[in-house]
Amino acid sequence: MTASPSAKTGNPKLAFRPLPVPQVDVHGFWGDRADAVAARTADILYDRCVEARMLEQIDPDRPSPGIVIPFHSPSPDEADRQGAEFTGSTVTTQMFWDSDLGKTIETAAYSLYRRKNPELEKKIDAVIDMYGRLQQEDGYLSSWYQRIQPGKRWTNLRDCHELYCAGHLIEGAVAYYQATGKRKLLDIMCRYADHIASVLGPEPGKKKGYCGHEEIELALVKLARVTGEKKYMELAKYFIDQRGLEPHYFDEEARARGADPKAYHFKTYEYSQSHIPVREQDKVVGHAVGAMYLYSGMADIATEYGDESLRVALDRLWDDLTAKNLYITGGIGPSAHNEGFTSDYDLPNETAYAETCAAVGLVFWASRMLGMGPNARYADMMERALYNGSISGLSLDGSLFFYENPLESRGRHNRWKWHRCPCCPPNVGRMVASIGSYFYSLADDALAVHLYGDSTARFDISGVPVNLTQASRYPWDGAVEITVEPQAPVEFTLHLRIPAWSSNAALEVNGEAVKLADVTSDGYAAIRRTWKKGDRVRLDLEMPIERLYANPRVRQDAGRVALSRGPLVYCVEATDNDSQLHRLTLPRTASVEARERPELLGGVVTLSATAQADAGDGWQGGLYRPEPPATTQTRLTAIPYFAWANREPGEMLVWLRDG
Ligand SMILES: [Zn+2]
Repeated sequence: MTASPSAKTGNPKLAFRPLPVPQVDVHGFWGDRADAVAARTADILYDRCVEARMLEQIDPDRPSPGIVIPFHSPSPDEADRQGAEFTGSTVTTQMFWDSDLGKTIETAAYSLYRRKNPELEKKIDAVIDMYGRLQQEDGYLSSWYQRIQPGKRWTNLRDCHELYCAGHLIEGAVAYYQATGKRKLLDIMCRYADHIASVLGPEPGKKKGYCGHEEIELALVKLARVTGEKKYMELAKYFIDQRGLEPHYFDEEARARGADPKAYHFKTYEYSQSHIPVREQDKVVGHAVGAMYLYSGMADIATEYGDESLRVALDRLWDDLTAKNLYITGGIGPSAHNEGFTSDYDLPNETAYAETCAAVGLVFWASRMLGMGPNARYADMMERALYNGSISGLSLDGSLFFYENPLESRGRHNRWKWHRCPCCPPNVGRMVASIGSYFYSLADDALAVHLYGDSTARFDISGVPVNLTQASRYPWDGAVEITVEPQAPVEFTLHLRIPAWSSNAALEVNGEAVKLADVTSDGYAAIRRTWKKGDRVRLDLEMPIERLYANPRVRQDAGRVALSRGPLVYCVEATDNDSQLHRLTLPRTASVEARERPELLGGVVTLSATAQADAGDGWQGGLYRPEPPATTQTRLTAIPYFAWANREPGEMLVWLRDG
């Protein structure tokens, strides 16, 4: 098996693929975030996995943590479900721990580009050795089914995360191979993927299954791209094509293990987006993270196979998500009950689940939609989720985490060190550590710039090595200077995103103005020319402060206004404001000012305005009275949402009363 850049199965001329992580250096805003992950988060993730005793589950040289005995087990499926969550005779264990280790390996791998860390690398090598020893002769590899529930493999794809875990270990393996050149885990996971393909698939005699929690699909695409092996792409495509077909695999599988398919905790296969075939789906439903991973895999397959039917379905789902089911922060999935979607326009603020993993998943999906060509419809949303609802899940210093990302807090929603279901910390960790690959994507004769910020990219186009440097203080300032330095003159198209929030943008190439209307389509300006060393492009994106209102169908935001500037959504925090936050009203006539605060929260731009506050004094006695409260003037100060909960605990509010 030889490594090649891509398994070209589709229409490679039209496909845009992200630049690999090592080909992009980020500085500035994202450099700070990536440094925090490399300096702290990557080590913390490993340490917490050890503290959670995950290594005891995967190391065959240690005693097994023991067979899980659920506290009560009314049915085999209920036992599976409880086992998945929590409980055990000797230690607390989780059936998805392989996935947390996979993401921890991935975060460590991407962090190694940023900062050498031989000690962490040694620890990860040891974890990989454990997996090597754990892997069975036939290639099978699952610490849960080998160590905790032996003899039950491939009996409950619906609930037990078996392929999901495989997917995350594959992603970890690909990243670790790319970062270190070490292919031990990659070879282990290729053997496991081969085993999976021998058990599941369209051929007679194989199970017609797929995973209840999607992830394996996008992971197999990565494996195919890094190994050049088309068989992994085919397996990914099979999992997507098979999903939701009748007779329903999860029904048959439940009956085979002696369970009633109707005795399903989540009642409907919408929970796992397997209620109907994927090409017929037009509503985002069920578990939000699973949905994002599925759509990501579908977008990859649409790109690789030029599959128009998938693309059409994805666009319908995109419309449904972004027009009816998306928080202004890019958070998704309002409900803790199903960790997912509820009904259209149901976007509660204080109880928002908006799992960090779900916003990270939206970044994954949006970035993969860009594989089919530059389109600001997707890139603007990727940017929104990136700068707001995903990195809000990680403290500025990289050491503390959020699972839920509400848009309103009374001060009791505080960051934690770890979680019994620790999916989010390594998910946001790996995303930040690999941020460079979201900046740019490359086609045969084009480069697309999706994100702005201080960075350098290295790539080959038509056989010519090119360096492209961005100098910018983005997201604090919308001026971007791009220098193109090919080793020899080379013709290609440079696509530059013009964000929808920037109503006034100006573009110059080597000092000459380019009329944006003439060159822009799908929200990207396209400059085709023979690029020479030292060519300069200047893009000025006006970054107005915006007042944003929600569709009146969103009951929770009625009469409220949110503030944004450029890609950043703002919130007010108690520590910056004198009044209780719910008493504040932002008058429509108030002028909102942006101010650079280099000393605050690692350097941010705050927004402030003169606001009205309901005064508490003079209110005698009881709860109610016929006269409204008196109001006083107060100064309101807002900070970027991603930076909240990094100081003393207190109230937070995104949607202010609009006056
Ligand atoms: Zn999570």
